[in-house]
Amino acid sequence: MAFPEKSRYVIIGAGIHGLSTAWRLASQLKAKGKGGGEDIVVLDKNGIAAGASGIACGVVRNNYFQPAMRELMAHSVGVWESDPEAFSYHPVGYMQISHEGMREDVTSIYEQQKAIGYESEFIEGEGDCMTYMKGLFSDWRAQNITSVLHEKKGGFANNTTSIYGLAKKAEDEGVRIITGVEVTGFTRGNGSGAVTAVETNKGNIDCDEVVVAVGPWAKTIWDMLDLPKEVSIKGTDGAMHSGIPTWRYWCLEEGVIGVDPDLQKLNDGGMPPVIHVDTDATLLSDVDGSVVREEAWGIYYKPDFHFGGIQGGAMPYEVMTPADEIEIDPYGPESPEFIVGDDFAHMWCSALAHCQERFSGQIVKFNKEPSGGLGCFTPDSFPVIDHFCENVHFIADSNHGYKMIGVGHLMADEMLGEKQALLEPFRFDRYEKGQLHPVSNSPYPWS
Ligand SMILES: Cc1cc2nc3c(=O)[nH]c(=O)nc-3n(C[C@H](O)[C@H](O)[C@H](O)COP(=O)(O)OP(=O)(O)OC[C@H]3O[C@@H](n4cnc5c(N)ncnc54)[C@H](O)[C@@H]3O)c2cc1C
Repeated sequence: MAFPEKSRYVIIGAGIHGLSTAWRLASQLKAKGKGGGEDIVVLDKNGIAAGASGIACGVVRNNYFQPAMRELMAHSVGVWESDPEAFSYHPVGYMQISHEGMREDVTSIYEQQKAIGYESEFIEGEGDCMTYMKGLFSDWRAQNITSVLHEKKGGFANNTTSIYGLAKKAEDEGVRIITGVEVTGFTRGNGSGAVTAVETNKGNIDCDEVVVAVGPWAKTIWDMLDLPKEVSIKGTDGAMHSGIPTWRYWCLEEGVIGVDPDLQKLNDGGMPPVIHVDTDATLLSDVDGSVVREEAWGIYYKPDFHFGGIQGGAMPYEVMTPADEIEIDPYGPESPEFIVGDDFAHMWCSALAHCQERFSGQIVKFNKEPSGGLGCFTPDSFPVIDHFCENVHFIADSNHGYKMIGVGHLMADEMLGEKQALLEPFRFDRYEKGQLHPVSNSPYPWS
């Protein structure tokens, strides 16, 4: 098929958000008698699932301290549940297991989950938490745990399989996905900021509207559009803080121990929920008993037949190199810089052994293949989902996003004229207006 010279809608990025937008836009155009998938092309410089969506751990949870995030996630869980098979989605549930410093935050999450009808169970107090956890895993032994939030919905999905499932849904609607095409710039209208053509390494494509869903490459496309490199943020004290960079990067650290995934089965033989532990207990090495970490730490893990073992991660670290100098490509496991090393393996495996005896001594099976990857973060580490330059629709999820399969749907509906209340808290002008999301006591930049 010839390279298109024109398409009403050009979507940049064949990850979770680009494909979800394409699928919904195509089906809604058709439903409204306004066109269909043949009006949409998705461009990707590499391939389907070549970005963060293809390496994500795949955890789907609701556990967020910020009400707006929770409501958005509840909507996305509905989309995951709409076709678990196509999305390779495992609704095993999710557990947030926390130390005392987080109890108040998690209590409010539980209260608000009840208010929005999101099913979960909440256990408080060190003794009751231990009893509850031992009821699930007989070898449970994590220390300093005083609350357990057990979300009965959510779980995880297999990263590349789900993105291929999404791509198929978009293609079934007639969307054309073209890989190996890199967007290199934008042509603007005469006297207007609107984009009239997307420039690529294969030629220009005239268009009416553009969707940008490029995950870790958000800053690259943002700069091509000449959008602000810095923001001013109105603080809670009412004072303006100016000169804050719009983008920064964190490196996500994840890995796999190559054991039989069944090792993590529940006492009753069932599939376990995703486990997320945040504790302030001193972390000792499972190798030699030395102190690995005295400050609070957090890990998450799940058995995963796709990864072939127990897969999970720990707190990310902020990349201190100035954003303009970061080498995003080659991305993910191919990156010479942003992959996990021995320190991560030692910390994560020791933390697993801290939580459950069955993981003691398993560090020798830590998979040495490179893993982990960069995420591009906004000033407050929450998504920016907004419209710019008159006809450019931007989904920058600040690395929250594999679980957010529904955001593309909301974006598509908005592009067709239906403003989405769920997206309002994620507009770019929240910084200057001081309409910021509440900050939790979690050790992660995204909870
Ligand atoms: C190691 C790791 C683990 C994670 N685990 C989880 C998790 O468990 N749960 C969760 O919810 N989130 C997780 N995330 C975050 C999540 O993966 C991302 O937020 C999400 O996948 C981003 O999706 P996206 O569609 O915006 O971008 P991506 O999936 O990164 O897709 C962007 C695409 O754009 C293409 N592209 C970039 N620039 C151009 C260009 N100039 N021209 C054409 N194409 C271009 C890329 O090739 C890429 O395929 C994790 C992230 C990492 C790195």
